[in-house]
Amino acid sequence: MGITGETKLIGILGYPVSHSLSPCMQNAAFAAMGLDIAYVPLLVNPTELGAAVLGLKALNFLGANVTIPHKIPIVPLLDRLDDTAAMTGAVNTIVNDGGVLTGYNTDGIGFIRALEEVTIPSYRETSVLLLGAGGAARSVALALAGKGVRAITIINRGRQRAEELKEMLGRAYPELPVEIRLFNEEINGLLKDNMMVINATPLGMEGNLKALPVAVDTLTEDHVVCDLVYVESSQTPLLAAAAKKGATILGGQGMLLHQGAEAIHLWTGKEPPVEIMRQAIESERSNIPQEP
Ligand code: NAP
Repeated sequence: MGITGETKLIGILGYPVSHSLSPCMQNAAFAAMGLDIAYVPLLVNPTELGAAVLGLKALNFLGANVTIPHKIPIVPLLDRLDDTAAMTGAVNTIVNDGGVLTGYNTDGIGFIRALEEVTIPSYRETSVLLLGAGGAARSVALALAGKGVRAITIINRGRQRAEELKEMLGRAYPELPVEIRLFNEEINGLLKDNMMVINATPLGMEGNLKALPVAVDTLTEDHVVCDLVYVESSQTPLLAAAAKKGATILGGQGMLLHQGAEAIHLWTGKEPPVEIMRQAIESERSNIPQEP
């Protein structure tokens, strides 16, 4: 579909942004939906984030996605936040409604939809070991808590962000047991009682599994192991090792796909063509780890 004076624009704000798979995924979706919308990468230096947000209004963008490092700093620059974005304190999707910018966070629902493609519904009764307490961990933890998981243990390098995540979960789900462990503590014993393990840190790449505080040898076929990092091969070293132990595995690609699909729903109110988006990612896989 050619770009004309009628074409509506949606951007992805990131720094860097050139390797993002979102433009190919989202443009494939809009073409399949017959919508006259172009999705463009927008390289925004953190010092220019305020100007970029005003630019979305001035240029009548339909909306935007937001990726590293802007997901948290963009929050106070928006006019409104939906509940999930307000609770997580991070935004990955913006809708421009006649000059009013509303921030949403579709990462959590994206993760849940991807998880539900590979697991049986009983995952809701499990206890979770969550490695990391950054933006992605916050979205995933909140979404899992909303699904009623039994307990969450946050394992992070630093205590501060882990405490902040625990407080956030406590405000939203006061009944949910949440514990904190630090990376330098012995945690392998926890694998017996926590059948879901989620890596929401950039660690464990390039074969450096020892950087992770989980001994993959102790994983079993009853575990579900998720790595939010998205890589070309679809299997990070953590997932490859977990698969060898017979565990159910989930890479970052499904979350990327479904957070983007939910964003399309927010911008257009229409059902996104998920399988076409999945194929677009597959065919565009580059050799660099990707952010949405
Ligand atoms: P973030 O907000 O910067 O958080 C990073 C987390 O990793 C923090 O918990 C941080 O711990 C920890 N960490 C970073 N470097 C570390 C190190 N050297 N040793 C130990 N811990 C370290 O980043 P994010 O947005 O949450 O992203 C986290 C990961 O998820 C990234 O790999 C990203 O690519 C991936 N992700 C994937 C998707 C998807 O759609 N598939 C979406 C979002 C994010 P401290 O608190 O101690 O600093």
